[in-house]
Amino acid sequence: MSLVVQKFGGTSLADSAKILAAARTAIRTQNQGNQVVMVVSAMGKNTDVLVDLAGQINQKPPAREMDMLLSTGEQVSVALMAMAIDALGHKAISLTGAQIGIRTDSTHTKARIESISTDRMQRLLDAGNIVIAAGFQGIDDEFNITTLGRGGSDTTAVALAAVLGADSCEIYTDVDGVYTTDPRKVAEARRVQQVSYNEMLELASLGAGVMHSRSIEFAKKFSVPIHVRSSLTDIPGSMIVEQPEAPDQSVFGAAVTLDEARVTVAKVPDVPGSIIQVFSPIADRNVAVDMIVQNIGEDGLTDLSFTVPRGELPQTLEAVAEAAETLGAGPVTHDAQVAKVSAVGLGMARQTGVADQMFRALSAAGVNLEMITTSEIKISALVDEQQALNALRVIHQAFHLDQEPVAANAPAAATRPHGNAVDVVERLQGVGMEELTIDDITLDKTQARVTITNLPDTPGIAARVFEEVAEAGVFVDMIVQSFGHHGLASLSFTVPGDRLTQSVQVAESLRQRLDCGAVTSSPSVAKLSVSGIGLRSHTGVAIRMFRALADAGINVNMISTSEVRVNVVVDGPQGDDAQACLQAAFADVMR
Ligand code: ASP
Ligand code: MG
Repeated sequence: MSLVVQKFGGTSLADSAKILAAARTAIRTQNQGNQVVMVVSAMGKNTDVLVDLAGQINQKPPAREMDMLLSTGEQVSVALMAMAIDALGHKAISLTGAQIGIRTDSTHTKARIESISTDRMQRLLDAGNIVIAAGFQGIDDEFNITTLGRGGSDTTAVALAAVLGADSCEIYTDVDGVYTTDPRKVAEARRVQQVSYNEMLELASLGAGVMHSRSIEFAKKFSVPIHVRSSLTDIPGSMIVEQPEAPDQSVFGAAVTLDEARVTVAKVPDVPGSIIQVFSPIADRNVAVDMIVQNIGEDGLTDLSFTVPRGELPQTLEAVAEAAETLGAGPVTHDAQVAKVSAVGLGMARQTGVADQMFRALSAAGVNLEMITTSEIKISALVDEQQALNALRVIHQAFHLDQEPVAANAPAAATRPHGNAVDVVERLQGVGMEELTIDDITLDKTQARVTITNLPDTPGIAARVFEEVAEAGVFVDMIVQSFGHHGLASLSFTVPGDRLTQSVQVAESLRQRLDCGAVTSSPSVAKLSVSGIGLRSHTGVAIRMFRALADAGINVNMISTSEVRVNVVVDGPQGDDAQACLQAAFADVMR
């Protein structure tokens, strides 16, 4: 018999009528011949109410007690839902995280799932019950109640679908699917039929806000197709699966992260190990660093720029001040009024001119780009916060994201073949379900680097550079623009080795016309790329990577990051050693 997991978010459970409506949805699904597991969140805004209450009593409530408190929200929902199903004449049983056997680590308020036992749920399902599971919670080895972080019921749902080998996982929410960007920010945003896990991962933590990003990591890891749909309408919703909506689309969606702050450490000694000295004290303070940019150094010194959530700027500055002092680096500058805008699409990995198109549109709108990073499927730029929403709209328009893509893939099935469950359970043995997994550590030795220093840091510069490079038919891979000093920025990019001469010519000709600093280049660089699942939620990845390289005496020349990837460039001849040392450093988490 097929098995369906249905998750209902708080807004879909806000009052008794909505709870009864959700119960009917589950009963209908059961009547169609499926076994049904419901995962429920706390009703309405109950979790917020509890958080607020705790704050009135204690400014820094102990994390263990916070979990004890917050888990009650879901416990209310499971009980009421079981009563609703009973009232409608069907069999149901409610279970807390502990009763299901959702084991987590002991990191209260952001625990990670380690294992889930399926026996009891399976027995109850076989006896004809609708099983109602409390989302967002688990227990640790000592039977302490833990929670998975705000929004964590999505993760519970996908995890249960994975271990039970469910045929589908439906997420009922107050939005009717996944959009090309947040429809509250851009009215023309389009609901998509389908989005790939990778695009969703790049977008989820960028503020698309539809799903808990850890739930997507999970879904990708265990190939669970997710169907996001509205609990209020019968609109088909959107599928989150392996394949994108359209194979040739360069950009699928756009996103903005507000409330970012930029920190730049100038004159960091460009030697192995110095990056680590900057990031370790930040990690010690549990600050998640987002965008990291390091551009090619000059005279043995380099600048390191990165962003952190604005609220965490004070701790970050404190950490960085320490590091700068030890390293003899500095000054440290920061800007708390910045935002990150990004364009994401699987197709951009194979097309030229995507960055150029984005930069051109932004420059036409007068938006200055303070920092740029790219990954295979994402281009991000840091802009002034005042211009962020406009920048988002401009990107959305430039790539016609309001229109259906031509030549879409055939829609993915909402279900998957049975038989994965055993495999999942086997893979769980010995490793926590939510452990970091690294898919790939790739080495690309075919590229060369071009750097233009001291570019005037005004709108349109990056657009001009990449326009002319694209006109020369050169495919640009990695782009790094670091924050400029005294109004001057430095821009580096990598191109195929055999196009270096041509690219340098373009850069030289620009230098003469734009009055910038020197053009430098390197005929042979090695680009290493670590990609995987959990990179974003495991802040230690970049650090582990930088430490391994430093220990091997390998200097990092350029860095750029995205949600699912960290890219570094090292000297060409050191590429193989660098790859070997990264493989060793991540051996325990390679998939
Ligand atoms: N009730 C929890 C929260 O509001 C978990 C969830 O809704 O997913 O964060
Ligand atoms: Mg929620």
